[in-house]
Amino acid sequence: MAGRSTARSQRPGNPGQPGQRIYFVSLGCPKNQVDTELMLGQVQAAGHALVDAPDAADVIVVNTCAFIDAAKEESVDTILEMAQHKERGAQKLVVTGCLAQRYAGELAQDIPEIDHILGSSDFPSIARALAASAAPAAPGAKTARGKKARPLPVIQVAETPRYIYDHDAPRVRIGARHSAYVKVAEGCDRPCAFCIIPRLRGPQRSRAIDDIVAEVRALAGDGVVEVNLIAQDLTRYGWDAGTAPEARATLAQLLRALGRVDGISWIRLHYTFPSAFDDELIDAIAGEPRVVKYIDVPLQHISDAMLRRMRRGHSGRVTRELVARLRARIDGVVLRTTFIVGHPGETAAEFDELCAFVAESQFDRAGAFTYSTEPGTVSALLPHRVDPDVAAERQQALMELQRRISRERHEAMVGRELDVLVEGTSSESDYLMEGRWYGQAPGIDGVTYLTDGRVPPGSLVRARITQASDYDLAATLEL
Ligand code: SF4
Repeated sequence: MAGRSTARSQRPGNPGQPGQRIYFVSLGCPKNQVDTELMLGQVQAAGHALVDAPDAADVIVVNTCAFIDAAKEESVDTILEMAQHKERGAQKLVVTGCLAQRYAGELAQDIPEIDHILGSSDFPSIARALAASAAPAAPGAKTARGKKARPLPVIQVAETPRYIYDHDAPRVRIGARHSAYVKVAEGCDRPCAFCIIPRLRGPQRSRAIDDIVAEVRALAGDGVVEVNLIAQDLTRYGWDAGTAPEARATLAQLLRALGRVDGISWIRLHYTFPSAFDDELIDAIAGEPRVVKYIDVPLQHISDAMLRRMRRGHSGRVTRELVARLRARIDGVVLRTTFIVGHPGETAAEFDELCAFVAESQFDRAGAFTYSTEPGTVSALLPHRVDPDVAAERQQALMELQRRISRERHEAMVGRELDVLVEGTSSESDYLMEGRWYGQAPGIDGVTYLTDGRVPPGSLVRARITQASDYDLAATLEL
C-alpha cells in the first residue's frame, strides 16, 4: 500500500457529520495519487480530520488500481483488509478509483462491507458520499463471512469518465514537500490493443495552460522545487477530440510557460508516447533550462509485427529514429522506458529482436512487464498465447540484460559532479542522506546516497559521484 494521510484527531465523529476521522489508502500510479490528494483536500475542506491509521478512523477510503491482474489483486486484498476494521469501530468503507470504475457491481455483490463506490471520475463527490447513508440491504442478505448483511453500497460510477481538476480544487499532498505530481490531462484516445486504461479513465481531456501554470505557481509557493508532469499520454497534451487544430495547446507551449515559474528548479516529463515527439517539443525540452533532460517513454516493443498486434500506430524504425533524435538533440538526456513481454503472438525471434534493441540502445532505465490479459481489450481476443512461464523467463532475461547496462552506465558516472535534490535522511541508515540527480525520478528510479554532510530536504546541492551500483549511486557533497 502506498500513501496514507497523516493528521490525527481525538474526537470521535458522528456518521455523516463533519468532523469524522478519515483514513485513506492510495494504490496504483501517480495519477491515482493525485486523485487521492484531491479527495484529501475535499474531505478536509468539508471539516473532516485525516488520520494515519485505520484503527483510528470512522471512515476508510481505498483508492484502487485495476491496470493489470497484480494491481487488481492488491486492490481487492486491501479492501478486504480494510473491511475488517468495520468490526473494530470504522463505520464506513468507501472504494474509489479504477477497480471501482471497472467492477462496481461485482464489488457491491462480493464485498457487502463496502458502503460507497465511486468511479474514477466520481471521486469529487467524496464529501457528499461521506454525508450520505447506504441503501438498506435485501431481507436475509449475508456477508462474505455469512454474517447478517449490511445495507447495499451506494454506487456512483459515470459510464464515461469526464472529470479533470483545476487549480482551485483543494488538495492535500502526500509525500515529499519539495516534489509534486501535476496531472495536465486525464484519459486516453489511443487504441493500444493490450490496454484497458481508456475504458477506466475515459476520453482524453486536457487542462488549460493558464490553469496548470496557476497550480504550479501555488505549488512553488508551498515549497515545491520539482514538478512531475503526468497524464496517460503526456505528448498528446492539448490534442483532445473535438478541439480544432488551431485551438490546440501543445506540450512544448506548456513547458515554455512552466519554465518561467519562479521557484521551480526541475520540470520532469512522464508517460510520453514514442511517435508523438515533434521538433517543437524536442527543442523545448532541450532549450528550457528548468526542464530536466529526462524522458520517460514506454516503448512496449520494437518488432514491427508486434507493434502492429499491439496497435501502437508506428513501426520499430520510428522508435529507433526517436532514440537517435533525442540523444542527438538533447545534451545529457536520460531515457527511461518499459516493455511488455509475452504479448499474444510474440515469437522467440521477436523477443530476440527486442533484446538486441535493448543491448544496442543502452537505456538508462528500463522495466519489463509480462503481458496481462485484460478482459475488454483487443489483445484479450488474440490467438497464439505465450506460456506464462515463457513470458516470465523473457522478463527475467530482459531485466538481467538491463541490470548490466544500468550498472555500466552508473560506473561511467563515477567522478562526475552534478546537482542532487535532497530527499532527507536515508531509510537505509541515519548516517546517510538520500537524494536524486535529474536522471532519477521519484518513486520509480534508484537514489543517490550522500555519504557526508547534512542538508535540509528539498535542497539542491552539488555533489561528486564516488560509487555506483546497479540502480543507485553514492556521492560526496562539493561544498
Ligand atoms: S497510450 Fe498508454 S494509456 Fe493510452 S491506450 Fe496506449 S498504453 Fe494505454
